[in-house]
Amino acid sequence: MATVATNKPLLGQSLLELTTWIEDRGQPKYRGKQLHQWLYQKGAKSLLDITVFPKKWREDFADYPIGRSNLDYFSTAPDRTRKYLLRLDDGLIIETVGIPTASRLTVCVSTQVGCPMACDFCATGKGGFTRNLKRHEIVDQVLTVQEDFQQRVSNVVFMGMGEPLLNINEVVGAVKSINEDVGIGQRSLTISTVGLPGKIRQLAAYKLQATLAVSLHASNQKLREQLIPSAKHYHLNALLDECREYVNSTKRRVSFEYVLLAGVNDLPQHAIELSKHLKGFQSHVNLIPYNPINEVDYQRPDKSRIKAFRDILEQKHVAVSVRYSRGLEADAACGQLRSSKS
Ligand code: SAH
Repeated sequence: MATVATNKPLLGQSLLELTTWIEDRGQPKYRGKQLHQWLYQKGAKSLLDITVFPKKWREDFADYPIGRSNLDYFSTAPDRTRKYLLRLDDGLIIETVGIPTASRLTVCVSTQVGCPMACDFCATGKGGFTRNLKRHEIVDQVLTVQEDFQQRVSNVVFMGMGEPLLNINEVVGAVKSINEDVGIGQRSLTISTVGLPGKIRQLAAYKLQATLAVSLHASNQKLREQLIPSAKHYHLNALLDECREYVNSTKRRVSFEYVLLAGVNDLPQHAIELSKHLKGFQSHVNLIPYNPINEVDYQRPDKSRIKAFRDILEQKHVAVSVRYSRGLEADAACGQLRSSKS
C-alpha cells in the first residue's frame, strides 16, 4: 500500500467515489453503501470500527486515513454553546462551535487555519494565516458536533476561522458533501465572506442554494478601509454590484453582516448611509454587537444605540435583525476564535 500521506481521506467522498474505492480493493459493490453509512451516520473513526466488514480486510486497511480530526479540548458557555479545538493531521489546531437552541443545532465551521484578512476587530485575523482546510477537515467539524450533542445538526454556517472564498474549491466540495452525504439541506447552509473581487461571481457559478452572507461592517468606503484592510482593493460600490449580480443569478437574497462598534460605525448617519446603499436590494442586514477581544479597545454600543440604529434601517424599509452572538463566555462568539483554550 502507498504511504498514508498520499492516500485521499475517505471523508468528503461521495457514495459513488466510496463504492469505486472499495470495489478497487476487492469488496462487492454493496459495501460502498455500508462504508458511506458508517462514515457519515455511525461515526466510524477508522476502518477497524466498521464491524460489518470482514476482519482480515479491515486489518489490511486499518491505517488508511478516514479523515477524522482529533478532539483536543472543548469548553461550554452558560448558554450551552460549545467551543471545540480540533487537532488536524499535521498537528495544527482549529476551532469549531456548536450552537444549540430549542429547535436547532447550528455548527460554525472554520475554513482555514487562521485568516489572512486581518480585520481590525477580529481575533482570528490577529493570529495570521497558516493554511487552507481540506474538504474532509470541514466535513469532520460538522460530524464532531453532531456526535457530541447526539443530535442532528440542522444548520451550518461557514463563519469560523478563515475566509471561505479564498478556499473556494474545498468549501464548495464541503458544501456538497455536507448536503449529499451528511444530509443537511443546502438552504440551511450559510457561507460568509468579507468580499473579494470576482469571488462572489465565481461562487454564483456553482448555483448553490446556500445563503451568502457578506461582512459589510461600514456604510462608506473610507470607514470600511479603516476596519478591513482588503477593502482598499475593492470599492464598496463594486462589492455591492457583485452582490446584486449574485441575487439576480441565484434568485437568493444576500445577508449583510454589520458589526456594531461604539462611536465608530454605529451613528445615525451611518444607518442612513447604509439604508441608501440597500434601498430596493433583496437583502437582510444582521447587526452584530461587537464581541470584545484583547488586542483592540473597541466597545460594544449600549442597547439604546443598537435599537436606534435598527429603528432607522426599519424606517427606511431595510430588513434587519440584531444578532447577539452566543458563546461569549467561552470565547466562542463571532470574532473571538483563535487556536487557544482561553
Ligand atoms: N471571513 C469571513 C468569515 C468569518 S465570519 C467573513 O469575514 O465573513 C465571522 C463574522 O464575525 C464576520 O462577519 C466577522 O466580521 C464577524 N466578527 C469578527 N470579529 C468580530 C467581533 N469581535 N465581534 C463581532 N463580530 C465579529
